[in-house]
Amino acid sequence: MGRGAARRRASTATGRACPCGSGRAYADCCAPVHGGDAEAPTAEALMRSRFSAFALGDTGYLLRSWHSSTRPASLELDPGQRWTRLDIVESERGGLLDTAGTVTFHAHYRKAGQPGTMTEHSRFVREDGRWVYLDGDQP
Ligand SMILES: [Zn+2]
Repeated sequence: MGRGAARRRASTATGRACPCGSGRAYADCCAPVHGGDAEAPTAEALMRSRFSAFALGDTGYLLRSWHSSTRPASLELDPGQRWTRLDIVESERGGLLDTAGTVTFHAHYRKAGQPGTMTEHSRFVREDGRWVYLDGDQP
């Protein structure tokens, strides 16, 4: 997916609640981060923006927010899996003055009509000053 396609998709979604569950409109939450107009200030904000990108199918953003050493060459999302809700369980470090942080979360989805939950303990680091996803453990 090209950057233009991702922007067009994002613009149609700006009026609704952000998929990350912040309670804010998508336009005031993850949209500027997805569009490259703003940077996630914390590891948790980056995690939220990545969940929103999964929910919206924005693979371009997912790849851009992945550390260069662990980023896959390409990414295909399962069209039958719909990401519905994010619960942040715990954030450690990952703040404005940190260079690394971890976020533990439950990501809820529906697949083939059935609800499911993925739990991950994700590691984030700064690369060239901005937060990126490094890797994660799924217990
Ligand atoms: Zn958001």
